[in-house]
Amino acid sequence: MVKIVDATTEIYHLDSLSDLCTHIEKCGRTCYKSENLITNETAIPFISGILKSGHESVIEHANVIFSMPDTEKNRRILTMKDVRGMNISIENDPLINKDVIVVSGNMRALRDIARQYHVHDFLTLIGNPLFYIKPDAEPSFENVKIESVQSSRFSELHNYITTHSVCDLGAYKDITRHRLASFSIESTRYCNYSKGKFGSELTVIDPCNIEKDSPMYEEWLKCMNMIEATYMKMAEMGGKGDQLRMLLPHSIKADMIMSSNITEWRHIFSLRCHSAAHPSVRLVMKMMLEKFYQMFPDFFADQYETFIKNQ
Ligand SMILES: Cc1cc2nc3c(=O)[nH]c(=O)nc-3n(C[C@H](O)[C@H](O)[C@H](O)COP(=O)(O)OP(=O)(O)OC[C@H]3O[C@@H](n4cnc5c(N)ncnc54)[C@H](O)[C@@H]3O)c2cc1C
Repeated sequence: MVKIVDATTEIYHLDSLSDLCTHIEKCGRTCYKSENLITNETAIPFISGILKSGHESVIEHANVIFSMPDTEKNRRILTMKDVRGMNISIENDPLINKDVIVVSGNMRALRDIARQYHVHDFLTLIGNPLFYIKPDAEPSFENVKIESVQSSRFSELHNYITTHSVCDLGAYKDITRHRLASFSIESTRYCNYSKGKFGSELTVIDPCNIEKDSPMYEEWLKCMNMIEATYMKMAEMGGKGDQLRMLLPHSIKADMIMSSNITEWRHIFSLRCHSAAHPSVRLVMKMMLEKFYQMFPDFFADQYETFIKNQ
């Protein structure tokens, strides 16, 4: 019998620079369902392996925010806005009531700006040799400082949120269409659900748009159980993950890590909390919006009002 679970969502907090590597490891291990292997010593070897294999999207889940004085020399950074995952703007710093250049980006973007424009200042300031591209590079800018990780006192461009969701494959397919976000998803190729680690069963998400215990629900359940039986049979016949996944339905459970800045999150909510979106995507997105509103009421008050309070 398939295991039936509800969709869930949670925020993965990254509160300080010292947690950068453990945050990345936690996000990355979701793809392999190997979270159980995490110890105090595993983050650095895990990230080294990721970087060596070129699977750099995993390091996109950690963002760092910097500021620098608005000087002529520093304004050269404004010509580098094309690096994907970097956000750059001139904003008033409420702490000093002065305009500053605010630069933020995920760890992949910070490595890309080093490769593309030979700007190593940001990696050097973070100070973890694991991420360096050219350790002995001269600084390109003056008086750059690290402000924070993930959230900052600056605009929505420079505030990032990482979430972990358990949703159905249909929802994750829709959500991963959003191009200005970063994703790590449980792999249906590497996770072989016939193995004991997965309880030798398929896990599916309870369909939110089919009434529980109705004749249609019974039919859905019958089909899920048939798929599971065939999956296990093909696994017994020596079927590999790549072959077995051909059977998996839209209802199959997927673990999804997703990171973006608040500008993109707001865009996503405007499309995916709307009644035109598929109910399973809408359910997950509304759960997220509720959590985001509690964390950042100023950024999400209007959307909370539209999509949750008034519905
Ligand atoms: C109700 C609904 C029904 C849908 N139906 C279908 C469907 O039938 N078939 C289908 O294929 N898709 C469908 N989609 C997906 C949809 O077409 C988009 O791919 C998805 O919603 C991503 O949103 P986006 O393009 O607005 O922006 P995102 O990818 O979230 O990007 C954010 C913003 O960045 C900018 N941007 C990013 N990349 C580019 C680029 N390459 N060029 C220019 N600007 C860019 C745009 O301003 C965009 O608004 C549907 C979506 C919804 C909400």
